[in-house]
Amino acid sequence: MADSQTTTSPAPRVRVQAMKEYHPPLGCRDNLRLDFNENTLACSPKVKEALAAVSMGALTRYPEREPVEAMVAAHLGLKAEQVALTNGVDEAIHVLFETFLEADDALLLPVPTYTMYEVYASATDARVVAVEAADDLQFPFERLLKAITPRTKVIAIANPNSPSGSAATREEILELARRAPHAVVLVDEAYFHFHGESVMDLVGTVPNLIVARTFSKAYGLAGLRLGLLAGPVELMRWVRRVLSPYSVNSLALVCLQAALEDTAYLDWYVGEVLAARTEFEAALDAAAVRRWPSRANFILVEIGARHAEFVHLMRAAGVLVRDRSSDPGCDGRVRITIGTREQMRQAVTALNDAMAALRSGGET
Ligand code: PMP
Repeated sequence: MADSQTTTSPAPRVRVQAMKEYHPPLGCRDNLRLDFNENTLACSPKVKEALAAVSMGALTRYPEREPVEAMVAAHLGLKAEQVALTNGVDEAIHVLFETFLEADDALLLPVPTYTMYEVYASATDARVVAVEAADDLQFPFERLLKAITPRTKVIAIANPNSPSGSAATREEILELARRAPHAVVLVDEAYFHFHGESVMDLVGTVPNLIVARTFSKAYGLAGLRLGLLAGPVELMRWVRRVLSPYSVNSLALVCLQAALEDTAYLDWYVGEVLAARTEFEAALDAAAVRRWPSRANFILVEIGARHAEFVHLMRAAGVLVRDRSSDPGCDGRVRITIGTREQMRQAVTALNDAMAALRSGGET
């Protein structure tokens, strides 16, 4: 019986390529965390209160996403059907690619950019068309326009971008959306709060625009895994067919409202990071370390051939930073997250010592 079932059932669909494995370099992160662009301090105290008020009985229920989605949509000035909450933006990217990319489709990406776009693209049968930025790492708008073909089905733009910190303008995004009406344009606004510019207001009016936001960065909720996609109702219907109804857990849902309401905390944290960024830029200039202008809570710096030693020296001084040397066009470059002014003063001391050791030819 079992045999006959096996022989008559259709062959399973086998993907041509397996999903790339990605192991984030976490582990032993008790030091000053300037390596993953998280909030380096804490989330709003209102979130802690909301968590403390959760009853044990509440945990016995499946999470109910819709009412919270409606609340978030209202906060963004959108309709509930236009917003889907996700288990971080990573799940949002995964679901979006599974929804809109098929065999022989193309994902158009400016690079260097966020690693997970390529990782999740590799779980589909689509091709990645990477358009490399020039040495200034500015958004390669003209070259992206030229790379659009009828096969382009998704264009993914991190805005501001990581690891460069550069940003695309609203006009550039609109023009890309106009010139690729057959593609979904994903604008990943993970670092929106530090940039202050957004295309969220265009959701629903531009038919192929989907915007992603995360609660992992300015809000300080990376551990809860909370993100969202916002787009036209017709596209979001397709997204919801792929999205698990329970991927956002009930603790995250409870905290979201508290986090959104505490705008004073958010404004304070963002203001602190922007002030720290200005101070840190001055320190980099004083140390003659090349840097790229950043619209986000991190700065990419040029360390050169001894980048691995630099990262090691910083770690030894209690400061974690991220080597981006393996990103396209980023050999010798290291990304440093911006925390509070006090934290960045510790980082400056470590950086100056590390640079002095490298320049004097010192070994780690
Ligand atoms: N998008 C970008 C551009 C990012 O840099 C990151 C985090 N490093 C993410 C998305 C992931 O966000 P989340 O924690 O919500 O999955």
